Amino acid sequence: CKVLVSGANGYVAMWVIHEFLEQGYSVRGTVRSISKGEHPRKEFAKYGEKFEVVVVEDITKEGAFDEAVRGVDAIAHTASPFHLNAQYPGELIEPAVKGTIGMLRSALNHGSSVKRIVITGSVAAIVHDDITPTTFTEKDWNHECLELVKTQGENASNLMKYRASKTLAEQATWKFVEDHKQQIRWDLAVLNAPLVFGPAIHELRDPASLNTSAKIFYDYVADASKVEEVGNEFLSKNGSCWVDVRDLAEAHRLALEKEEAGGERIIISASVFKWQDFIDAANALSPPIVLSRPLPKGMPGSGSGQPDTVHLISYDTTKSDRILGLKYRSIADTTEATLANYAARGW
Ligand code: NDP
Repeated sequence: CKVLVSGANGYVAMWVIHEFLEQGYSVRGTVRSISKGEHPRKEFAKYGEKFEVVVVEDITKEGAFDEAVRGVDAIAHTASPFHLNAQYPGELIEPAVKGTIGMLRSALNHGSSVKRIVITGSVAAIVHDDITPTTFTEKDWNHECLELVKTQGENASNLMKYRASKTLAEQATWKFVEDHKQQIRWDLAVLNAPLVFGPAIHELRDPASLNTSAKIFYDYVADASKVEEVGNEFLSKNGSCWVDVRDLAEAHRLALEKEEAGGERIIISASVFKWQDFIDAANALSPPIVLSRPLPKGMPGSGSGQPDTVHLISYDTTKSDRILGLKYRSIADTTEATLANYAARGW
């Protein structure tokens, strides 16, 4: 069984590929240039011919994936920009939407052996900011970001631009499936993930080169000097929902394997958190993991679990439990693995 994974050199994709290869699948990964394929090739060399890399230079070009989809049984589409410094909304929206629809069109026209497509979606397409605690489900759609980006354009916040890119890409996905339901021979699942944390196996030079979500984790959990800027109160009051990158990778495999995942959007979220929860977990490690910079302390014990803790955003994960049967790693496990990963890199 061969799976095409787009954006193979990315944080999430590298773990998705690792998961498939470990479970005996063959993987074809797409990257934007030959040089970006070098690290994945090295990392997965031990799987021999089961792993190959192909170059898809520009995912927004028509027919970009036409060759890549040939002969694969399934697709995991992860390639999409996730950064918070876009000048104008289209910088994120265009590759997110055109990349996804281009992949689907290539699968429709040239993927005669494709049976299932899994798209790495985001809770960005579900959540909206609220002042009262809300539990979101797969029935929710983020209209707020679309409205803000429409009215504010390039002045919209970077987070709203990113959220709009994921919302529009997912809306276009389901529309494509509906519009082509008579012709398509595959079905599709979207995995809606919150902030993804955990160890990295993609190419990194230094902490500054971490991908967006892992960089936020490093700044708040592993670098006391960064934390000083936001203050201790921030850490006990702020947080969101999270998932370990290895669990999200497993969810991609399960979503390809489970018949009932076809046609579903599925929230993949471990739990709510406050930053102090991860900081406490980092400081509680025994034996301790010593990094090149001192760990922040925050205000120990002031995270979740206080009588007055409020989590404004949470997600209902009944569907991932029922369809995928996914078991999520804990804050303690992920913190230990992530700090060990930093230590191994000399950070
Ligand atoms: P990374 O930045 O590590 O990976 C992004 C991948 O997408 C890279 O392979 C990158 O290629 C590719 N990509 C980005 N922009 C473009 C573009 N314009 N054209 C072609 N390829 C592009 O981020 P993540 O691994 O975190 O993100 C992977 C996916 O997971 C994304 O779809 C993201 O929205 C989704 N996601 C991530 C979450 C998180 O917290 N990390 C949460 C929820 C969803 P290149 O290296 O060449 O730029």
